[in-house]
Amino acid sequence: MNLVPELEAAVGAENVEPLPDFADPPCYRVTPGSAAEVAEVVRRAGDAGAAIHPVGAGGRPSRVDKDPKGERSRVFISTRRLDQVLQLDEHSLLVHAQAGITGLDLERILTPRGLSIGDYPPVVLTSSLGGILAVRTPGKSSARHGFFEDAVVGVSAVLADGRTVHTRVAPRRSTGPDLARALCGSEGTIGFITSAVLRIHKKPEARLVAAYLLPSFDAAVSAVLFALREEAAPSGLRIYDAGEAARHFDGLVLPPGNTLVCAGTAGPTDLAACDRDLITSAVLAEGGTITDHALADLWWRRLHAGEPTPGPAPTLQIMATPGKLRPVYAAVNAEAARLGAIARAHVSRFDPDGAVMFFTIERDGVPADDTTCAAIERAADAAGAWLLGARAVKLDAYLRALRDTLDPNRIMNPGTLS
Ligand SMILES: Cc1cc2nc3c(=O)[nH]c(=O)nc-3n(C[C@H](O)[C@H](O)[C@H](O)COP(=O)(O)OP(=O)(O)OC[C@H]3O[C@@H](n4cnc5c(N)ncnc54)[C@H](O)[C@@H]3O)c2cc1C
Repeated sequence: MNLVPELEAAVGAENVEPLPDFADPPCYRVTPGSAAEVAEVVRRAGDAGAAIHPVGAGGRPSRVDKDPKGERSRVFISTRRLDQVLQLDEHSLLVHAQAGITGLDLERILTPRGLSIGDYPPVVLTSSLGGILAVRTPGKSSARHGFFEDAVVGVSAVLADGRTVHTRVAPRRSTGPDLARALCGSEGTIGFITSAVLRIHKKPEARLVAAYLLPSFDAAVSAVLFALREEAAPSGLRIYDAGEAARHFDGLVLPPGNTLVCAGTAGPTDLAACDRDLITSAVLAEGGTITDHALADLWWRRLHAGEPTPGPAPTLQIMATPGKLRPVYAAVNAEAARLGAIARAHVSRFDPDGAVMFFTIERDGVPADDTTCAAIERAADAAGAWLLGARAVKLDAYLRALRDTLDPNRIMNPGTLS
């Protein structure tokens, strides 16, 4: 079957483009303008024996691993034209938006109405809604509003045979499995997400920031975990060890052994103050003190107003459960010291499962070599850390069974998550 006339019939010739970098077999980028057109492209491409690759704000075909079914024509379906808000319910605080809209564009629509997607740093919102949900990136979390996918109350997606599934169940107290959960994080292998209904929030009335000094890294972790156990819901929390504080705050020198904690709270003024007070109480209980408020101001501006953070990007990004944060930090520092290197760290993105630790590893003032970094990573692993974004491979058998049923010819993002 000739693929081009099929694709042109689905979306119009002006929205079909051959990709010269992928000439043999020929590959195409198509840009549908509606969910119905996505379904038509998937159906026709599948019938023609081609593979499908959704493309979000990344904007270019990427992550195309080897096709396990042999070389086939590929159709890269861009969500660029699926960039509309379909419905905004300001009363129920729900928005139904198409998959191609970026988080930032959605936020631009919500802000003038006093609404917001939530406390996600702008840098994570440059992705498309479909891309954010399809990858379920571990970085897209906020202490106050949880992971981005926690806001999802429904997803619409096109399956490999061109059928469309709408997972939204209203009222939500109806029973049955939440199929949106399977689509989130499936990286386009189970379905092509065309839109999602998200829970949104009122813009906070108040935003408070505070900075604290703790006598040690362990005390800082204990204070933060204590505050979270007390159900403080900050919009941001970060721990800096002394080395990282010096780098982030223009050579700031902390008293020996001390650690800096920055916290941001938000919401109705009383609630924001209450959350801040819970954190302050936890800090005081761990022997800490309140310190220069300007440090927290600068931290928040860098996180949310795009001010650059000085220095290189972290060398090692790992996750650890609450009980492992301290041993992992100790293990990384011990191994760095053994190898004559220095590891600096900040810790953020706290949730009930732990936090993300960002280490920058240097020797003699320059980034440490790969062998040193690999040895330190092994030490972190032995102490119970996971690499950020590590996949739960023990669930692969279930994913394969689902894909076998829904997509026996493996046309949806073949080579991904396999
Ligand atoms: C394992 C992993 C972990 C990552 N962790 C982080 C992180 O912690 N922080 C961070 O900022 N970034 C992270 N990224 C990068 C991440 O890809 C982007 O942050 C973001 O999700 C991409 O959005 P995008 O719109 O650019 O999509 P693209 O880069 O275009 O696509 C990303 C993936 O999602 C699929 N996809 C895109 N749109 C749809 C759709 N509508 N329906 C179905 N599938 C779709 C694509 O086929 C592709 O596989 C991670 C990526 C991966 C693969």
